[in-house]
Amino acid sequence: MTKGLLHHIEIYVSDLKRSAEFWGWFLEELGYNAFQKWDGGRSWRLGDTYIVFVQAEEKFRDVPYHRCRVGLNHLAFHADSRQHVDEMTETLNNKGINILYKDKHPFAESKDHYALYFEDPDRIKVELVAP
Ligand SMILES: [Zn+2]
Repeated sequence: MTKGLLHHIEIYVSDLKRSAEFWGWFLEELGYNAFQKWDGGRSWRLGDTYIVFVQAEEKFRDVPYHRCRVGLNHLAFHADSRQHVDEMTETLNNKGINILYKDKHPFAESKDHYALYFEDPDRIKVELVAP
């Protein structure tokens, strides 16, 4: 049953090479496979859903992304387990990627929500949630 599930998400990025490196690593860790690749874009797919990253044109890059403005705030993904969240947290730390809400991690949202929050290269917030 795929009716109503997300078919794909397309995100414009300021630097495709940088974003593809970041997202490629993260999504492949979650079991996605590289799906499409062309000069201005890349995508990764898991099951019936794929996520596309497209290089934003120079003329549209004057206003940078900000997750508090109208539009996308964050993307949340299912983790396998709490241990998976912990392992990803450690890997991101080792990669020097900014972990958000560190003081409250892994219960930044509530004590029933075991999750990791971090930022992509354009500062889009990414969440990884344990079952
Ligand atoms: Zn969330």
